[in-house]
Amino acid sequence: MSKFRIVVCVKIFGGELNPFDGAAIASALEASDDVTLLAMSPMSDLAEMRALTRLGVKAVLVSDKDFAGSDTTATSLVLAAAIRGLRPDVVFCGFRSVDGDTAQVPPMLAERLGFGFFGGIVDKSGDTLTNADGEKTQIRENTVYAFGKIRPEPLGGIFSGESDVEVISNADLKLSPDEIGLTGSPTRVVKTFVSDTGRRNCKFVRYDEISALISAALKRARREKKYESGEKLDEVFCAEAVYKQAAAIAKKRIRIDENAQPSDLAAEIKKRKSAVVLFGDDLGSKTFAARLAVKVGAGLCADCVGLKVEQGSLIMTRPARGQTTTAEVKCVSPFTIATVRTVKDSEDAAFCVGMGAIDYIDDIRALAKRYGAALCCTRPVADGGYLPYSCQVGLTGKSVSPKVYVLFGASGAVQHTCAIENSEVIIAINADKNARIFDYADYGVKEDIKNVKIRP
Ligand SMILES: Cc1cc2nc3c(=O)[nH]c(=O)nc-3n(C[C@H](O)[C@H](O)[C@H](O)COP(=O)(O)OP(=O)(O)OC[C@H]3O[C@@H](n4cnc5c(N)ncnc54)[C@H](O)[C@@H]3O)c2cc1C
Repeated sequence: MSKFRIVVCVKIFGGELNPFDGAAIASALEASDDVTLLAMSPMSDLAEMRALTRLGVKAVLVSDKDFAGSDTTATSLVLAAAIRGLRPDVVFCGFRSVDGDTAQVPPMLAERLGFGFFGGIVDKSGDTLTNADGEKTQIRENTVYAFGKIRPEPLGGIFSGESDVEVISNADLKLSPDEIGLTGSPTRVVKTFVSDTGRRNCKFVRYDEISALISAALKRARREKKYESGEKLDEVFCAEAVYKQAAAIAKKRIRIDENAQPSDLAAEIKKRKSAVVLFGDDLGSKTFAARLAVKVGAGLCADCVGLKVEQGSLIMTRPARGQTTTAEVKCVSPFTIATVRTVKDSEDAAFCVGMGAIDYIDDIRALAKRYGAALCCTRPVADGGYLPYSCQVGLTGKSVSPKVYVLFGASGAVQHTCAIENSEVIIAINADKNARIFDYADYGVKEDIKNVKIRP
């Protein structure tokens, strides 16, 4: 079986393995018996790494107090240096992590290693990998593969013992102090706060009233989307997907040719002393942005939900750790790159299936059909295979802006509500009167779904 030497980059967070890395480990063990797990973590995570050796894998911990405060740029530099020393044929990793969720490190690693990249993998069958866009590929050498589906890592056999973890520090990697830790990180968190954006005054109604509310919302003309404007940069480079949004923060917009190579754009940008480059949020754009950031040494902020200019610097807002926190980030490097959440022109109505409604998908689909509504879902519904990933709305799915968005049994986590803010009317049905979604809905129905007649 040992076709490839595989290094799996894993992240230990809060003493636990990042769940997306479970899929990477399980897939690596299916593909090869030469698997090394690599984590960049404090020494306090040594025990967790030791426990993982029960899977019959080698384990390497890169640990140094000088790595503290590393952003994705500095982290990918350290990991790439460690990977080079391990000489793998391929690299597997989780596509994102549950704490930071930037999905930047894997394509940055690919760029630093001179490897190809295939991300967002949601299925593996033999050596064939399929990503969330339905693209397929075979595992081949010199490629970084990033797994976007949560899958528990396999359990070590009960009789398998733990083995030693190799610990390496910067004394082994010999990276310049200017390139690592906070000093080597081009992004800075300016502040974090609990965001109120998207909050609405919820009026509680009975379920039998929502049909009239949906019809009324559908009859109204669409609101014109306004982009706020304040202080502006002289110019930005921007992809087509964010061309309109960019007008709010720059006097001049220079369109990027996304069919060009990142190296072409890097050469163009490097002609300037400083530059801001904005991309949309699709997988291809995010990969392009990460590669470009490595090439020009730019700070990269992913999944921005807001942009503004303060004292000549771009301030980027993105959802941060936890369920409700938002962070403002700026770059201290001359070049700034951001991937920005784009809101697709969606259907007039969209009905969302949350985990509380998975037993009623057929009824919700029938109701959606009656109103010509798109069927959407929360991430666990897609992760569970109840609906395809193309239906997923949220931070790691699509953003929507229908005239009316109806949620069935969805809790309203910030990773979901951040992508529905532009909906004109939001209606939520949830059995829990304290569900967060009621703070983000115009109308709420406090009801157990099993007690309502969903089907028209
Ligand atoms: C990095 C990261 C990225 C993420 N990206 C996304 C994303 O893109 N999109 C996304 O949606 N999530 C995303 N999540 C997950 C998000 O944090 C939540 O876990 C998820 O949105 C919850 O989905 P849910 O509301 O369907 O399920 P749950 O949190 O399980 O909520 C189910 C809700 O249904 C209600 N309910 C249960 N039974 C009934 C019933 N019989 N009748 C009525 N109500 C009922 C419950 O009261 C509860 O409020 C992300 C998380 C992380 C950490």
